[in-house]
Amino acid sequence: MSVMGDVSLSAPVASFVARPVLNLIDGEWVEALSGESFPVRNPATGEQVASAARSGAEDVDRAVAAARRAFESGPWARMSPAERGRIVWRIGELVEERAEEFAQLESLDNGRPISQARQEGSAAAAHYRYMAGWATKLEGATIPVGWAEPGQYLAYTVHEPVGVVGAIVPWNFPLLMATTKLSPALAAGNTVVLKPAEQAPLSAALLGEVLLEAGVPAGVVNIVHGIGADAGAALAAHPGVDKVGFTGSTEVGKLIIDAAKGNLKKVALELGGKSPNIVFADADLQTAIPGAAEAIFYNQGEVCTAGSRLFVEKRVFDEVVDGVAAAARSIKVAPGLDPASEMGPVVSEEQFARVLGYLQAGEQEGAEAVAGGRRHGEQGWFVEPTVLVNTTPEMQVVREEIFGPVVTVIPFDDPGEIAATANDTRYGLAAGVWTRDIAKAHRTAASIKAGIVWVNTYNTFDSALPFGGYKQSGWGRENGEAGIHAYTQTKTIVVHT
Ligand code: ADP
Repeated sequence: MSVMGDVSLSAPVASFVARPVLNLIDGEWVEALSGESFPVRNPATGEQVASAARSGAEDVDRAVAAARRAFESGPWARMSPAERGRIVWRIGELVEERAEEFAQLESLDNGRPISQARQEGSAAAAHYRYMAGWATKLEGATIPVGWAEPGQYLAYTVHEPVGVVGAIVPWNFPLLMATTKLSPALAAGNTVVLKPAEQAPLSAALLGEVLLEAGVPAGVVNIVHGIGADAGAALAAHPGVDKVGFTGSTEVGKLIIDAAKGNLKKVALELGGKSPNIVFADADLQTAIPGAAEAIFYNQGEVCTAGSRLFVEKRVFDEVVDGVAAAARSIKVAPGLDPASEMGPVVSEEQFARVLGYLQAGEQEGAEAVAGGRRHGEQGWFVEPTVLVNTTPEMQVVREEIFGPVVTVIPFDDPGEIAATANDTRYGLAAGVWTRDIAKAHRTAASIKAGIVWVNTYNTFDSALPFGGYKQSGWGRENGEAGIHAYTQTKTIVVHT
């Protein structure tokens, strides 16, 4: 055991972080060509715990070239779908076997409570297993040519891989976000260049080890660490990349679109949110109140689907505000590796400053914090779980994605009007509805402009359930059948008989 602040890492994890985090290119672990690296910090203390390769455009070039070779020739290009599926399944098995190592690395790196990080390994494993099954089920169709005589033509479709995929992922669920790109991309036969987030690169390095152990051939997955504006931008703009799968902020998503223009690569985007969570007066408040608290405070609020605008029908407003505020105050805020932690620090000093900036802006504009509202403690980047009331629709804290543990609670009078208020946002990723009235639940779900609506639950995900954004929350869907087809392209073949 090795001591990291006031918590312990298992021996394999301690020795893992003691080594430099390298790029994985063509099956080899290599430094950035410049020899440069960047510090990886523990957000609970601000201390440097590791260093990672700081890649530039030249490293991205090498990785894309390796991915191209692996796609066009070599074992991956010749592999049967069944064998590909077996490898993807094996990745899931190995991720699950090493889930504790992944959890400790994630907790150290992005700050999240170890109890939550432990769930991520199983969730990631489930994605690999689910997508492994699709490898042998990418069936096309036989389609009649409408104007032709029967038998004159045979027309059919096949689903082919897109080619070289650039996967650019964020730091909030590093393993899972890499997995939602890698698992379908590999199952469909693509090759990948993965750019992990610079704020939390450690688990991707462990994933690289797992991929090699699972039998993923050299060059099929390449990992290039680096800063978004350098390595990320180079990958998004690279003419040898056929598709970019990106998860991150809406602002960077727009930069990805610009960068993709050169070769018109395909683009899939999972972006930000400011998701409405609506509690009707007839809801079961015993579940709605803890549900609303969990919807915003899970993972320090660093969740793209966080229920950050909580709308509560006036009749139960005080009760819900009191309940959510009490829940906020009772959350144990502590370093993620402390087994008692229920909320860790936000990921970085920059993110910490951003969240506190929003809290100050809210206060200046007249919002009132009925719980939290400040920094927690004096060391590390902890923010108090915060509940804001007395907000108005124009306030920054109501309109912009904070990506921290901050919820605005807003009363409403007319259940018939609430969907329009909830839709008053540029985002459309997710929404929650709490009611005992089944007709009202379906009516509201139908009126909400969002890619997923949860009724009497929140943040319920599965690898089979399509996920993605309306409006400025993104392009395309991950997971499920739509998710595998995001990494295929359809070819139609027409034969004159
Ligand atoms: P967040 O708001 O979650 O930090 P970002 O959108 O900044 O999300 O980052 C998500 C991912 O996008 C990270 O891997 C980051 O390095 C990368 N990234 C940031 N800026 C760019 C850019 N200009 N081009 C490509 N990738 C970028």
